[in-house]
Amino acid sequence: MKETFADRDGRPVLSAMIQAIQENAAALSEVDGAIGDGDHGINMSKGFSLCRDRLAESPGGLSDGLKTLGRVLLAEIGGAMGPLYGTFFLEMSRAAAGKETIDRAIFRGMLERATDAVISLGGAKVGDKTMVDALAPGLAAYQAAVDGGKSFSAALRDMADSAERGKEATREMPARLGRASRLGERSVGTPDPGASSCALLLEAMARSMTALLSAG
Ligand code: ADP
Ligand code: MG
Repeated sequence: MKETFADRDGRPVLSAMIQAIQENAAALSEVDGAIGDGDHGINMSKGFSLCRDRLAESPGGLSDGLKTLGRVLLAEIGGAMGPLYGTFFLEMSRAAAGKETIDRAIFRGMLERATDAVISLGGAKVGDKTMVDALAPGLAAYQAAVDGGKSFSAALRDMADSAERGKEATREMPARLGRASRLGERSVGTPDPGASSCALLLEAMARSMTALLSAG
């Protein structure tokens, strides 16, 4: 297993995220239907499908692709998630801009910058039952893995597993922000839609980057 991959080889990371959202659109709308307005999967798959079309017209690597994804989500998708995920991917792209190779330290910078931006834009804290409940533990696990000397791929695995556990933990939380907060205690029992999509996206990133680290 390698410790770096070339930014220019990074397009499959975008494809993996697009596929994960398209395959899970119905399930994401279903959880949003239980505690929100049922549009999360539709919003997300609309944005990610538009991004797929946009990417088909322009060759480029990971940071370029993340920039396109961020721009499309910011400009084209409604709901709470357009600005939040748009910012997330644009900040990831900015942290990777000009880097020819992506290693675990650069990806750490990407994840830190993107997570900070989502938290400062949306004001969500861990425990509010939002995407931050998947993102923050995913970042913390990644940081701990790198600090503990784990490989890039092992740190990515820890990130995705921790985000998944964070998403599961949102089942027990009453929502405090966004549309679901109107339901209060009645939102308990359903995982947060944004945490669900975030766990899927971090899993798709981990899997596709690990494939790049295993290649050639
Ligand atoms: P809407 O709530 O406008 O219908 P979506 O259904 O696309 O938008 O997204 C809902 C998700 O948005 C929630 O599950 C939650 O994770 C996320 N969310 C809402 N408000 C915030 C916020 N302030 N910070 C972070 N995430 C948020
Ligand atoms: Mg919704």
